[in-house]
Amino acid sequence: MKIAFIGLGNMGGGMAANLAKAGHDVRAFDLAAPALTAARDAGCTTFDTAKEACEGVDAVVSMLPNGAIVKGVYENEVIGRAPAGAVLLDCSTIDVATARDVIGAAQGAGYDMVDAPVSGGIAAANGGTLTFMVGGTDAAFKRAEPILSAMGKAVIHAGDAGNGQAAKICNNMLLAVQMIGTAEAFSMADKLGLDPQTFYDISSVSSGQCWSMTSYCPVPGVGPQSPSDNDYQGGFASALMLKDLKLAMEAAGSAGANTPLGKHAQEIYEAFVQDNGALDFSGIIKTL
Ligand code: NAD
Repeated sequence: MKIAFIGLGNMGGGMAANLAKAGHDVRAFDLAAPALTAARDAGCTTFDTAKEACEGVDAVVSMLPNGAIVKGVYENEVIGRAPAGAVLLDCSTIDVATARDVIGAAQGAGYDMVDAPVSGGIAAANGGTLTFMVGGTDAAFKRAEPILSAMGKAVIHAGDAGNGQAAKICNNMLLAVQMIGTAEAFSMADKLGLDPQTFYDISSVSSGQCWSMTSYCPVPGVGPQSPSDNDYQGGFASALMLKDLKLAMEAAGSAGANTPLGKHAQEIYEAFVQDNGALDFSGIIKTL
């Protein structure tokens, strides 16, 4: 299949490489020259503009920083330039309203389009083990699914346009709240004289058990290997967690959802990110 790939950054670079590895003819574009060089090394053909990359393709995949950029790229470079009948997949994390707007514009021009944000970080993008949460019609999902499968381990249809983004921000809001709670529990256990490994042994088989504890423990040396064992380097940057929390609070506001813990988590990460934006989000334990 001929696939245009727009946005070859930390995530998109590995995703485009996996599409090329799966045998697709990947036509890649990014504004940054080093990203283009890496894409060529990974077997993609590169172009000077997104418009050129979209010529004659069967599908367009994008992995871009935010909603304004996604909207600009689709309105100015993809819609009307990719052949009628191409399927469009935006994998960026953006606000629900913009995702629905862009998909509406694409559908109006005769394209099938899905929002397909991911769970999993750079390692999962490189390893082809992302989880995709997909919003769009049944027909669009059916066409997008095999393309996404070449880049991930799970592809789940979340419902209509924008529902992929809705699933992503609800999940990440829960993750932020859960991580702060886990960090608080370990800090308090320590202050009360409990050994962290002993607390882990107890809580990981008790009702406080959660993913932030048993897969991503914020305490170094406890649980499986995680960014805490590497001084909170790598993993999921706190700045990106804050981005997702802001999107979640925006969506909660417009949907009239009551999310007091999500709001508090946003405030906590906002303060943390001032000096620690690049640290993994489990580094929040350092503030407690
Ligand atoms: P990144 O900044 O590394 O990559 C974005 C790329 O887009 C850059 O290479 C940039 O040059 C390019 N770009 C910007 N504007 C462009 C344009 N108009 N045309 C073409 N290219 C353009 O970001 P990333 O970490 O790869 O994240 C991409 C998306 O994935 C974001 O929406 C992010 O929230 C989401 N995400 C990231 C992670 C992660 O761990 N990094 C995890 C899940 C989801």
